[in-house]
Amino acid sequence: MASTQPTAPSPKPVSPLEGLHRIENPVSNSYLFRDTDGIYIVDTGFFESAKPIAAALPELTEGGKVPVRGILLTHQHLDHMGGAARLHWLTDAPVSAHRFDVPAIEGIGPLVGPPLITQLFRKPAVKVANVLQDGATVGPFTVLHVPGHTPGSVAFLHKARGLLFTGDSLIVGKRGSLTTAKRSLSYDPEEAALSLRKFAGLTIEAVLPGHGDPVTQDPSGQLAAAVDRLSHPEAKEDKTLFGPDGRPEIHPGMPGWREG
Ligand SMILES: [Zn+2]
Ligand SMILES: [Zn+2]
Repeated sequence: MASTQPTAPSPKPVSPLEGLHRIENPVSNSYLFRDTDGIYIVDTGFFESAKPIAAALPELTEGGKVPVRGILLTHQHLDHMGGAARLHWLTDAPVSAHRFDVPAIEGIGPLVGPPLITQLFRKPAVKVANVLQDGATVGPFTVLHVPGHTPGSVAFLHKARGLLFTGDSLIVGKRGSLTTAKRSLSYDPEEAALSLRKFAGLTIEAVLPGHGDPVTQDPSGQLAAAVDRLSHPEAKEDKTLFGPDGRPEIHPGMPGWREG
């Protein structure tokens, strides 16, 4: 006799951005991503930007029942890490960043970037609990080291969901297409261009950039085209690092750095 058991409902397709919340700070994006084990915060905006992120947490954590698993920083710039100290204090979630940007984030090394940004804005330091290297995993994410914009710039790849958080290694410009950050905002634009080759061949569902709208229409195709178009570095420029006193400095661990 034929089975009369009802057929199981086919699983609902997951929208590429299911569980993902984007918070637009004045200039940059922060993302709150809910995975099966809890919430991950990718970038925090400026110091003041922690407020809207914090305001979104009670609903997303269902009043604290869903844990915040991590605060993931794509790089040391203040429009991405400025709110990390506040959010860490609030959630106790561990902060993750690449080792080359850790000294700046912890307030013991010079920030890399345009003097105006690095000197005018508040720099609330935060302890980095997870010091990342290329290929490391943080929760569901794989770390892709894509140096150039800053020495410790990383992208976070959620392989199972096909989500690529690019920070400022690849942003969406005013024309709506993927591009690199302005040369003047990057520590080593040539290296930043070369680093894009790390993204070659990725099959993804969405690019989540540090600036501009998420890319969900043909994301793999747009990513491949951007890598083709942009990963050919122009002439090398001089690099200058500015210390807390505004004078150029060398970053710990970087070429030219000497202990003591
Ligand atoms: Zn940046
Ligand atoms: Zn930025």
